Amino acid sequence: MITSELTNITGLIQKQRDFFQTGKTQEISFRLEKLRTLKQAIAENEQAILQALYADLHKPEFETYATEISLVKEITHAIKHLTSWTKPKKAEVPLEFFSYSAKIYPEPLGVVLIIGPWNYPFNLIISPLVGAIAAGNCSILKPSEIAPHTSSLLAQIIGQYFEPEYIAVVEGGVEVSQKLLAEKFDHILFTGGTAVGKIVMEAAAKHLTPVTLELGGKSPCIVDVNINLEHTARRIIWGKFLNAGQTCIAPDYLLVDKSIKQNLLDSLKKIIHEFYGDHPADSPDYARIISQKHFERLSGLLKDGEIIIGGETKPEERYIAPTIIDQVSLTDPVMQEEIFGPILPVIEYTDITEAIALINSRPKPLALYLFTENENLQQQVLQATSSGGVCINDTIMHVAISSLPFGGVGDSGIGNYHGKAGFDTFSHYKSVLRNSFWFDLKWRYAPYQGKLSFLKRLIK
Ligand code: NAD
Repeated sequence: MITSELTNITGLIQKQRDFFQTGKTQEISFRLEKLRTLKQAIAENEQAILQALYADLHKPEFETYATEISLVKEITHAIKHLTSWTKPKKAEVPLEFFSYSAKIYPEPLGVVLIIGPWNYPFNLIISPLVGAIAAGNCSILKPSEIAPHTSSLLAQIIGQYFEPEYIAVVEGGVEVSQKLLAEKFDHILFTGGTAVGKIVMEAAAKHLTPVTLELGGKSPCIVDVNINLEHTARRIIWGKFLNAGQTCIAPDYLLVDKSIKQNLLDSLKKIIHEFYGDHPADSPDYARIISQKHFERLSGLLKDGEIIIGGETKPEERYIAPTIIDQVSLTDPVMQEEIFGPILPVIEYTDITEAIALINSRPKPLALYLFTENENLQQQVLQATSSGGVCINDTIMHVAISSLPFGGVGDSGIGNYHGKAGFDTFSHYKSVLRNSFWFDLKWRYAPYQGKLSFLKRLIK
């Protein structure tokens, strides 16, 4: 097991480089075997995973299955498609290049670094790892120190099932992360906040290391009048208060058509009761805030606007009730920073163009939600806004579809992964052109005299 005591990060990376050079990870059978091992490791440690997530976030068992352990389907998907993903793909060559053939070969990058956050601390380390294994890389994993139980469980599981020269966990906080970032990797996939993302990219630039940055931001949720009110309310409350709002793609704030606002607010309140009872603090289905620091930050945001439901806190448990806030101003802190907690501000609009203008005046979000059956409106919003992903008439669910690349745009991230996109992220696509010896057209060779008119015809 590699732990925080490990200071010889350079030595570990060298060991991984040596192992990579053996060519073992290139073998498809090796990659398949390791994906199966990973799947088995998760299955054999389900109880420990549930316990670690409960200790770190008070995460309900159902939510740990739905949002952490469920990543095994990513592994199943990769196992199923690996042979086709790794096959060199034929590329077209123009007729005049008749003696050539062209192919694109995916090849592994080498030794990659995966840095994770604390909110889905198991999933957001292992899910990128699936792509890294599938693509044939060696990996170093740095889980978040803010979720210490999950971090140490990850170190234990990976240490038990994999050799450190192939996959290793390096535990620790910012200093360890910085030590890792000072080294040269062949790719870095970082999940975390936008500010740290900039630090990661700066460090990577020193080695020309490519990065995938899975960042955050304020994801808007637009609610139009053409909806099924109850379904809408249920899907918003679920997506917002899952993991007590500590989800990168949680609806950060609502933009609601004024004419439906009161009805929506009534429904949202009703659904909070339906989900968590009269006292969400006693509900077994409601998580807690990760740390005192985040608890205090979120408690500060409760001062904004007018609380229409929730607002209660229990500092000793780091509990914040599911809270909806009305009458907020766009300059209030709750509308300035990513909330990342169980607080849902509501803003009304009279015309959709106001909602679009507000979204476009801010950094591009990771997710955008739109509730409407009006297909013209769906088209209008899709065309007029930019975001990492969009989910129409639901929340969160788009991350669960392996065939959809997941990632941000602008401030919400660079690059993507999940399914084939994860394989692509950790692969280099090498273009290979082959000529043969059975013919050698001389039109491109010197002396050029008399050949220009042919060239001109060719390049038209
Ligand atoms: P964070 O950026 O504080 O930390 C993420 C990782 O970076 C941790 O492993 C941490 O040890 C390391 N780190 C922190 N400061 C560092 C520094 N100065 N130098 C080097 N490494 C450093 O993020 P977090 O608080 O763990 O997670 C919350 C953020 O992550 C939110 O903004 C959220 O939206 C985002 N997030 C994004 C996704 C996504 O898939 N796009 C998923 C989950 C969370």
